[in-house]
Amino acid sequence: MWKHVLVLDFDGVITYLDIDWNTVRMEISKAVGFEVHSILDFWDEYFSTRLSNIANNIVEKHELRAIMKAKPYDDVEATLREFDGEIYIASMQSKKALNIFMEKHGLKEYFREILSRNDFRNKRDQLKHIIDREKEAEEIIFIDDSIRNLKICRELGVRCILFIRELGMSLLNVIPISKRENIALPPYIPIILFLFLTQSIRRS
Ligand SMILES: [Mg+2]
Repeated sequence: MWKHVLVLDFDGVITYLDIDWNTVRMEISKAVGFEVHSILDFWDEYFSTRLSNIANNIVEKHELRAIMKAKPYDDVEATLREFDGEIYIASMQSKKALNIFMEKHGLKEYFREILSRNDFRNKRDQLKHIIDREKEAEEIIFIDDSIRNLKICRELGVRCILFIRELGMSLLNVIPISKRENIALPPYIPIILFLFLTQSIRRS
């Protein structure tokens, strides 16, 4: 039986969250009493601890504020509607923020599961969970705007697509929306990606 699974990142793929991550990092550092250089590393290391609760409250305050203004990109609903398979969100945003956004924009019904930082310490564990749950899938396609996550994805044997909206990419062009279609990137995308990857990219 043909079965494809689509895994989407949230911030940068579904929507854009207008958050000043430097300010957030400083607030967390002050609250936990040591300098936090990477929020993603912090979630990984302190998952399910008192410190992660403290940090979660700080980050969630910024996320909820950003979620109020954030809208799904134009191609999101059509992609979710037409994709022939199971769809997941794998995000290091909070469960509360993700749920509020999905309910507000009527998108929640499209997802088999929405994975957040409240239940997983990192993207690797989120992807492992999906691989475990979708054992009979012919292919799992993971879309993310972070090179860090793409590396993890490749190690797990998942089909990974680096998705950069700033380069004009659309979900409708990179995702097969029915079993008769294959992923076909416009010919110029690999060239643009190469140029993009040769520059240093730093994200929280
Ligand atoms: Mg992202």
